[in-house]
Amino acid sequence: MTIIDGKQTAAEVRAQLRVRAAAFEEKYGRKVGLAVVLIGEDPASQVYVRNKIKGCEDAGIRSFAHYLPADVTQAQAEELVRALASDEAVHGILVQLPLPKHLDAERILACIPAAKDVDGFSAENIGRLALNEEGTVACTPLGVMELLRRYHVETRGKRAVIIGRSNIVGRPMALLLLNADATVTVCHSRTVNLAEECARADILVAAIGKPNFITADMVKEGAVVIDVGINRVDGKLIGDVDFAAVSQKASLITPVPGGVGPMTIAMLLQNAISCAERAMR
Ligand code: NAD
Repeated sequence: MTIIDGKQTAAEVRAQLRVRAAAFEEKYGRKVGLAVVLIGEDPASQVYVRNKIKGCEDAGIRSFAHYLPADVTQAQAEELVRALASDEAVHGILVQLPLPKHLDAERILACIPAAKDVDGFSAENIGRLALNEEGTVACTPLGVMELLRRYHVETRGKRAVIIGRSNIVGRPMALLLLNADATVTVCHSRTVNLAEECARADILVAAIGKPNFITADMVKEGAVVIDVGINRVDGKLIGDVDFAAVSQKASLITPVPGGVGPMTIAMLLQNAISCAERAMR
């Protein structure tokens, strides 16, 4: 059994991204620019935004941080995103979710043009993924694909089972694996006989949000197990997979923390660079 080292892999990806960002700067005389918008004071969001900005610095990407108070109006938030949309120094725009309750997140995200949508959440980018066309893909599932690729996991003809159908993880994950020639099953809260579906998987991706939900009896001997879940239990981070037991059966498995998590920011930086490069074509 091999434990997939997301931290090390992310560091390798980021080293390559530094080279790409530097080449962009050399060629065009300015840095790749990523705008990060944080509204309100959600502590987890503050940590994520801080890490994303640090990631930019480290990669040689210019970040434009915009902090808006929790009581900002819908019109003010949309106005900021529209201004960033027309700013040529900004190649990518990220609005940190969740937003305060009184705001309509969909309408704010709709102000981000697809070409600057570094999270890949827009209908256009999801449509492109569904059509297997070039576009921006959501960072977390993209990070999973990068882990599979770097650990030489064959996807063609393999049975992939994804648990979770959210727009940011499960759904794009299913499309990516389908585009990579896997035979894909998507399970969710209404799935009947979940354990049976899971036990058929050569590649099992858990994106549920329930600690230790995937137990050893749900996993086929030799399966590749990817744990996207991040659950805080008694101040500790725990995945959706019962790592201790499942790692006895898996051929490859991601730990939590240190698996999928570190890849997400690396893929955000990669998406920002790709948006900038495409803008110059
Ligand atoms: P979500 O709540 O939007 O979706 C959860 C999915 O799990 C739903 O589609 C639901 O149908 C399914 N589900 C819930 N209960 C189930 C059950 N009993 N049986 C089968 N399916 C069930 O969550 P999300 O945003 O997709 O995130 C999933 C997990 O991944 C969370 O723990 C989240 O924190 C984590 N996450 C990690 C990263 C990362 O960078 N590693 C990024 C995003 C999300």
